[in-house]
Parts: sequence; C-alpha cells; structure tokens
Amino acid sequence: MTEAATTPTQSKEQPIRASELDPKFKYELQKIHGSDRILKCFQCGTCTSDCPVARYSDSYRPRTLIHMAQLGLKDRVLNSDTLWLCAACFTCTDRCPQDVEVAAVIRVFRNLAAEKGCVPQVFKDQAASLLETGYAFKIPELRVKKRESQGLPPLPKGNPENVKKTLKGVKFIEKIQKPAGDKQNGQ
Ligand code: SF4
Ligand code: SF4
Repeated sequence: MTEAATTPTQSKEQPIRASELDPKFKYELQKIHGSDRILKCFQCGTCTSDCPVARYSDSYRPRTLIHMAQLGLKDRVLNSDTLWLCAACFTCTDRCPQDVEVAAVIRVFRNLAAEKGCVPQVFKDQAASLLETGYAFKIPELRVKKRESQGLPPLPKGNPENVKKTLKGVKFIEKIQKPAGDKQNGQ
C-alpha cells in the first residue's frame, strides 16, 4: 500500500488530505507585497539552516512554511503557532539565493492569520496592554517603586489614545478582539 504524503516535517500521523489543499493560495500570495516571489523558492533550505530561531526550535522551519504554502496548505500555515516565533532578523532574506523575501513572507502569513483571529494569546495580551497603557508590557508597580527608591527618574507616560489613533486605520483593535478561527488542521 502506498504511504500517504506528508509535509516535510510532519509526522506520518498527519497525512495531507486533498480536501485541505487550496490551489489558489500561492497565487493569492503572489499578489501580496512581500510574498510576491514565493513561487521562486526552490526549497534549497538556506533560510532554515541560517535562521537563528530554527537553530533553537524543533518546530520552526521557514522553508517548510513556504513549502506548505506552495502546496496549498493554507489552514495549516495560518493556524501554525510556529509562525509567531520568527524574530524578523532578516537573515533569511539576505541569504535566499532566489531573492525570496522570507521574513516578509512570514509577515504576510501572520497578517493573514490575524485576519482570521489566529493570534497567540500572549500577543493579544501585549496588544491589550498597548491599548490600555501605551506600553506593550505592563510595568509592575514594584518596578516603578524600585526606580523611585534608586533615585531614578519616573518612566515617561504612555499615550494610549495616540496608539489607538495610529492603529485605527489598520483595524488593529477589531483584529485583536476577533475570536480565533477554526483550527481544523492546526499544528
Ligand atoms: S532560501 Fe529561498 S529558495 Fe531556499 S528554501 Fe528558503 S526561501 Fe526557498
Ligand atoms: S527573519 Fe525570521 S525566519 Fe528569517 S532568519 Fe530571522 S528569525 Fe528566521
């Protein structure tokens, strides 16, 4: 009996089903600035081998995400938590022999995932903090007091109203509050 096809880093427990393939996905990506050269990728693996995050992660592989997108595994790509591990250091973009803007491709995947509400809770919490205080991280009261006790100047006040105004145009608040899409094929 023939073995079911699997994506490169998937275990054999996750076979690709024809029903989950979206053949138009790669063409959609070609029309988006940043992922327009995705079909130029010939899977050499340079991006993954030079990626500092992939070096320390068992699951984050930019080449694999691009391969999955080329195959049409749209839901798997957009539901993948590993997408959010990219540190946007651009090493992959600098080294790709095909001039694929790998870091930008990952950014496009994230934007599409955010449209579906697929954003890890940790980033939703950071976004909520940004909207509430103007800072991505809430500064603990203890830290503020410690600064005072050390004679350090107070931290500048955040301006959440300005943050909200800036982010209004990209519908940031709506996207962050959107419930996560179905993770039918999540990995
Ligand atoms: S380095 Fe470029 S061509 Fe090679 S696998 Fe990565 S994206 Fe594809
Ligand atoms: S931009 Fe992201 S995918 Fe590219 S090398 Fe840096 S961490 Fe890896």
